[in-house]
Amino acid sequence: MEKLALTSALLDWYRTVRRDLPWRKSQDPYPIWISEVMLQQTRVETVIPYFDRFMKQYPTVDALAAAQEEDVLKYWEGLGYYSRVRNLHAAVREVAAKYGGEIPRTYEEMRALPGVGPYTVGAVLSIAYGLPIPAVDGNVLRVIARLFVLEEDIAHARTRSKVEIIVSELIPSEFAGDFNQALMELGATVCIPRTPKCTECPLAVGCAAYSSGRQSELPYKKSKKPPRIEERVVFLVRNAKGDVLIRKRPDKGLLSGLWELPHFSAPTEGVFQLTESHLTSERSGEVWAVAHELLSDAPRQISFVRNYTHVFSHVIWKLTLFVVEGRGTFIPQSPYTWMSASQREQYTFGQVFNKIFADLD
Ligand code: SF4
Repeated sequence: MEKLALTSALLDWYRTVRRDLPWRKSQDPYPIWISEVMLQQTRVETVIPYFDRFMKQYPTVDALAAAQEEDVLKYWEGLGYYSRVRNLHAAVREVAAKYGGEIPRTYEEMRALPGVGPYTVGAVLSIAYGLPIPAVDGNVLRVIARLFVLEEDIAHARTRSKVEIIVSELIPSEFAGDFNQALMELGATVCIPRTPKCTECPLAVGCAAYSSGRQSELPYKKSKKPPRIEERVVFLVRNAKGDVLIRKRPDKGLLSGLWELPHFSAPTEGVFQLTESHLTSERSGEVWAVAHELLSDAPRQISFVRNYTHVFSHVIWKLTLFVVEGRGTFIPQSPYTWMSASQREQYTFGQVFNKIFADLD
């Protein structure tokens, strides 16, 4: 398929299926940027209500730049991958300070902002400013790997560079934004993993994988290491007033800077399998010891509640939740504090802890 035929077929298709999404209402780079960051690892349907709420609260670069990080996290709560919003906030602050609130128009300036990768640069600059810069996400990698039968591992940086070069050669300078969005949309809805819908594809005539029957084998990706499993005991410690003991996570790493219920490596394997009937066993004695150490005093009572599993990209938490009644002598030190029921909205928690609160409400 000639380059011109391919781009025309793709653009014609996109113009018929294009959805009317809130961030597509204008060419303003700020909402486009916000949406692109939210859409990384998150589905469009999930993003829409978060996007609307976020834009209402922070409608401009200056409004977001002036906001406190804790408040911004609250408006992101539930979307996960919190490093995205921390980086976005830092980058927006730099745009306000260095560029007077105007999002830069060059690849180099935009790429130099904290946490802004080549995909985001390509997406924002092509959609908002029409610059012919590729925006290669997982969907685009898959489409291009199949169209041209690329047999390299798509997880490799050099494969991504190769795909960026191919897209740069295809991208029409007058419709750069639409072209990038069309490729992403094709990957998200037609050229999907495992069972692509080739009979509905506007590029089927020129697709090398389809014509050789290899569409389901591609793209090639070396399997990842399986995630590490961590068994942890979680304590919902209450004081006499019904306040709950919470702690802040470190500023770096998993769920950095968010709040959580205290949790610890399970003292012995098999805590995850505990049930009510096992609470008098030796293993539960070890759980008592962990709670004792946390409170610097013997707890009054510990009750098993239930097990939770929470999957991150590199680790799986298997959590066993206990409600712990203390003796009222415990004075928390940083990073711990008591939280009353009315203060819950002031703190941002990871998803699994919000689930625990919802289950216990
Ligand atoms: S023909 Fe099939 S494999 Fe090729 S781009 Fe279209 S959906 Fe993907």
